[in-house]
Amino acid sequence: MKDKKIYDLIRKETKRQREGIELIPSENYASIHVRNPLSSPFVNKYSEGYPNARYYGGNEFVDDVEIIAQERAKKLFKVPFVNVQPYSGSPANFAVYLATCNPGDTIMGLNLPDGGHLTHGWKVSATALFYKSIPYHVDKTGHIDFDEVWKLAKKHKPKLMWTGATAYVHIYDFKRFAEIADAVGAYFAADIAHVAGLIAGGAHPSPVPHAHIVTTTTHKTLRGPRGGMIMVTNKGLKKDPDLSKKINKAIFPGLQGGPHDHQTASIAVTLYEAAQPSFKIYSKKIVENSKYLASILKKNGVDLVGVGSENHMMLVDLTKTHGIGTGVFAEKALDLVGLTVNKNTIPGEQSSPFYPSGIRLGTPAATTRGMGKTEMKIAGETIVEVLQIILPYQLPKEQKERGLYIKNFVKSMEKDPQIKTLRRQIKKVAMRFPIP
Ligand SMILES: *Cc1c(COP(=O)(O)O)cnc(C)c1O
Repeated sequence: MKDKKIYDLIRKETKRQREGIELIPSENYASIHVRNPLSSPFVNKYSEGYPNARYYGGNEFVDDVEIIAQERAKKLFKVPFVNVQPYSGSPANFAVYLATCNPGDTIMGLNLPDGGHLTHGWKVSATALFYKSIPYHVDKTGHIDFDEVWKLAKKHKPKLMWTGATAYVHIYDFKRFAEIADAVGAYFAADIAHVAGLIAGGAHPSPVPHAHIVTTTTHKTLRGPRGGMIMVTNKGLKKDPDLSKKINKAIFPGLQGGPHDHQTASIAVTLYEAAQPSFKIYSKKIVENSKYLASILKKNGVDLVGVGSENHMMLVDLTKTHGIGTGVFAEKALDLVGLTVNKNTIPGEQSSPFYPSGIRLGTPAATTRGMGKTEMKIAGETIVEVLQIILPYQLPKEQKERGLYIKNFVKSMEKDPQIKTLRRQIKKVAMRFPIP
C-alpha cells in the first residue's frame, strides 16, 4: 500500500534538492550505488555481535559485507583496526569515551561556539554530564590556541583529548596535538567527521600517524550513507594493546544493539567509491571550489574567519557588517534564493548557538554535482547581494520579540522582487547539474 503523504514529501524534497545549491558543508549527495543497499533486504536482518561471532543465525552474507567494509576502511585510511557499526558519528564518539574513560574522568575538546562538536564535551551533551569536560578554544585568527591547550592539559591531566570540529576552516595540526597528548599521557582521538573524504582523497593530511583513535561519520565529505566508524591506529595499539577490543565492546554490547546491516553494505560501497582515482580529483576540487568561493566573498567585503578556507568550508562573520546574532537572517534569506546554508557561531561569539552571528558555507555537495568556478562565482555574488538586502534587520534584544520579528522578516523577504529574481537565477544554474 502506497503512503501518498510520505511519497509526496519525498517528491518535494527531491525537487528542493535539485532546484537549489547545497552549501551546508556537512551535507552531500550519495550516489545511487551507495543508496541502493539502504533499501535492500539487509534492512530486514538482525546480527548482534561481530563477524563469525553473532547472537543470531543467518548471518553468512552479513558477515561477508561487514568484513569487506572493514577491509576497505583499513586499506583506505591505513589503519590496523576499524569498527564499522556505529549508527552515526555521535554514538561513535560515545563509544570512545566508554572504551577509554571511567565516568568522572577529565576530557578535553574544542569549545562548541569555537567550532567544536557537541560530543567533545559541550555542556548540554551527555559527554559533559558523565565526564569532566575542560574545553579549549581558538584564538583571534580562528586557529586552535595551542598555548592554551598546553596549559590546560598540564593543569588538568585529561584521560582523553579530542581534536576535530564541525566549524573549522584551517588544516588540522595533528602532530602538535599529539605532542601535547603524549606529554600528559592522554588518549588522543581525532574526529575527522568533516574532513574524512578530503583525507581519503589526499586533500588533507591524515591523523593516522599521530592519533591513537580516529572517528568519523560516513555521510559528510566521504559521501556515504548516514553512519560512523571508529579506527584504532598502530600508535593506539602500542599505547594500549587492548584498545580495539575495548572499542568493540563499547559499541556492542556497551552502547548499541544490532548493527544496521543495510548501512554497513552502503558504507562498503562508499569506501569502494572513495578508493577510486576519481575520488582524489573530487576531493581536490572540493578544496579548490571552497578557496575560490572564499576569495569571491572576501573580494566583495564579506568578513571571513581566519584565512578564509583551507579545506571544504568557510565561516562568514557577520558581527562587524550586520551586527550580533544576525546569522538567522542570512540563513533564511539565502534559503529563499535557493542557497542552503546554516547559521553558525563564530570564534568569540557574542550571541548564542541558537542566534549566532555567522553562517557556515561549504562545497562538498555542489562539487559532487560537478559545479566549478563559474558556479562558485555566481553563488558567491548572490550571497553578497543577499547580505546587502538583509542589512537593515537586527536581532531584537528581547528574547520574546524575536520569533515574531523573524516571521515578519521571512514574509517580507518572500515578497521581495530582488530575492525572487535571484531565486530564478539560482534555479536555472542548479537545474543544469543533475543530482545523483
Ligand atoms: C557531524 C559530526 C559528528 C556527529 O555526527 P552525527 O552523525 O550527526 O551524530 C561528530 N563529530 C563531528 C566533528 C562532526 O562534525
